[in-house]
Amino acid sequence: EVDAEMLVDGDAGSTSDWDDRWNHIKKFLERSGPFMHPDFEPSTESLQFMLETCKILVIGAGGLGCELLKNLALSGFRNIHVVDMDNIDVSNLNRQFLFRAKDVGRPKADVAADFINSRVPGCFCPSFYLYLEFHIIVCGLDSIVARRWMNGMLLSLLVYEDGVLDPSSIIPLIDGGTEGFKGNARVILPGMTACIDCTLELYPPQINFPMCTIASMPRLPEHCIEYVRILQWPKEMPFGDDMALDGDDPEHIQWVYQKSLERAAEFSITGVTYRLTQGVVKRIIPAVASTNAAIAAACATEVFKIASSAYLPLNNYMVFNDVDGLYTYTFEAERKENCSACSQVPSDLHFSPSSKLQEVLDYLTESTSLQMKSPAITTTMDGKNKTLYLQSVASIEQRTRPNLTKTLNELGLADGQELAVADVTTPQTVLFKLCFTS
Ligand SMILES: [Zn+2]
Repeated sequence: EVDAEMLVDGDAGSTSDWDDRWNHIKKFLERSGPFMHPDFEPSTESLQFMLETCKILVIGAGGLGCELLKNLALSGFRNIHVVDMDNIDVSNLNRQFLFRAKDVGRPKADVAADFINSRVPGCFCPSFYLYLEFHIIVCGLDSIVARRWMNGMLLSLLVYEDGVLDPSSIIPLIDGGTEGFKGNARVILPGMTACIDCTLELYPPQINFPMCTIASMPRLPEHCIEYVRILQWPKEMPFGDDMALDGDDPEHIQWVYQKSLERAAEFSITGVTYRLTQGVVKRIIPAVASTNAAIAAACATEVFKIASSAYLPLNNYMVFNDVDGLYTYTFEAERKENCSACSQVPSDLHFSPSSKLQEVLDYLTESTSLQMKSPAITTTMDGKNKTLYLQSVASIEQRTRPNLTKTLNELGLADGQELAVADVTTPQTVLFKLCFTS
């Protein structure tokens, strides 16, 4: 993981600010207006807070991240940290405008910080940080798992006293997401408003083509590529027995491309290209720069509103879609009473005592409200921790695999038993209560 800190404009002593540099911001903060937050008193303090104190963490320095960093830096935020695990790829350059051809291969976070600092002189130093240090966190991620993890992290920082949430422990999360011509921006006050997991049903699992179409009646070039990916690759194993198809390996893609062409020719289907092959194999949805710009603008505005307290923030979910015309609306996503991430109550798992552990595992991964990736299930029996199933460590997986075919009864689990589940979608262990159905 690479992260970088940038102090846009340098520290207070060596600031390159020119007179009236922040005039455009002052207009919002130092005078009253009809859209102001009812409790806001115009003053010079908000701007000082934004320029000097407010510490923002931007997660992701990709398409959304580049836009966010630029918008935030030009809105008067000078204490911005950026974190991104990726290095720059040549395919990023068309929209991730903080990067140049010479930067290919370098860490995105470093280059993004350097670029912003070069435009608005200052200093930048790599840093280790605690999430607690930040006033606001902004996510510009393309991964739902990473987004859920961050959501879980902020929920884990909440402090409850006698069941009452201490509001000072809340770090607002502004989340932006785009997919082609669609996007969304949302404001999450962890513990108070709907969290990412509360609305997990909004992220439907990947839609795949029906197998019968792929196998016997392909109509689209994508169907041919899927045929090769799903059926032909495992059968022919062109690069050795254990070699999984790697979407980043040009030789692999070339093989799938050639085979897909043959398949397409058989059914008189046109349109199979190398690029499409890679797109299908890697599940690439083309990025649209203007969608990123619109969503990042909305997110940066929300950061400004929350940091300055001058305006009411978005409540709480904005949808943007210009697939066909231009459509946008805002709604208030509601908290889910039994949200496994933020509700503080263990969710019930309803299973018959004769259900197998495999069925529980399938539920955890397939349920639209949970969508876990590789859950590890543990429980306490006779005062001891017992791992029922764990996938991520090969030796433990092997040892616990037989449990999957055992019934809950055979495993000695009782009605009301608590199961602790760990997964990559959250930094915290999620508690479930087993409720036996008859
Ligand atoms: Zn929730």
